[in-house]
Amino acid sequence: MRLVVATRSRHKLRELRLLLALESTELLSLEDLAVPGDPVEDATTYEANAAAKARWAVRETGLPALADDSGLEVDALGGAPGVRTRRYAGEHATDDDNNRKLLNALEGRPPVRRGARYVCVLAIAVPADRGPRGGLPVRTRRGICAGRIATRSRGGGGFGYDPIFEPAGEPPGGRTFGLWSAAEKNRVSHRARAARRMAPVLRDLGFR
Ligand code: IMP
Repeated sequence: MRLVVATRSRHKLRELRLLLALESTELLSLEDLAVPGDPVEDATTYEANAAAKARWAVRETGLPALADDSGLEVDALGGAPGVRTRRYAGEHATDDDNNRKLLNALEGRPPVRRGARYVCVLAIAVPADRGPRGGLPVRTRRGICAGRIATRSRGGGGFGYDPIFEPAGEPPGGRTFGLWSAAEKNRVSHRARAARRMAPVLRDLGFR
């Protein structure tokens, strides 16, 4: 069976391949299928954005599609940047731009005021499915990983905000996700938890 992963992030794709560990399903990227363009991501929830990406990829490819919408919620910022995490420092912001902006926003705050969590929502849509009104039903599963924002960037592993995210269990100033191995991150991350919850849904749909 073939499943397209509706992302242009090679990091998300690599993690999802390892986390889902499907033996006889080929996980294809949008690049593998030479799909041009991108879905509109303007909803206010991860669920709605992930569903929009999955439906878009089914329409573009005719294949079952898995999508990931994720972000970082910072307590001191009232849950921001949330669904706007990728564009936190602007429409074409780099990871460095985003990390710098977040460190500046929390400047001077002690560790107890730097609480944050990663959120990941995975969505699956299958072309043969039809909802009551002919729409394409989507199933979503959410995973959360608690932690805090470090006072400075440390570590080159992972991607995105990982060099400034200290997962729960690490002491203040301890290792960021950027300093964890991929195997360690894949045991506790938001994406790992969402993937664990999505696994039985994929099995029910016949993906092995
Ligand atoms: P999306 O492409 O709209 O889902 O944006 C996700 C945003 O959250 C991007 O800025 C990612 O870098 C960030 N993000 C999501 N998951 C992770 C992760 O596991 N590590 C670091 N950053 C992440």
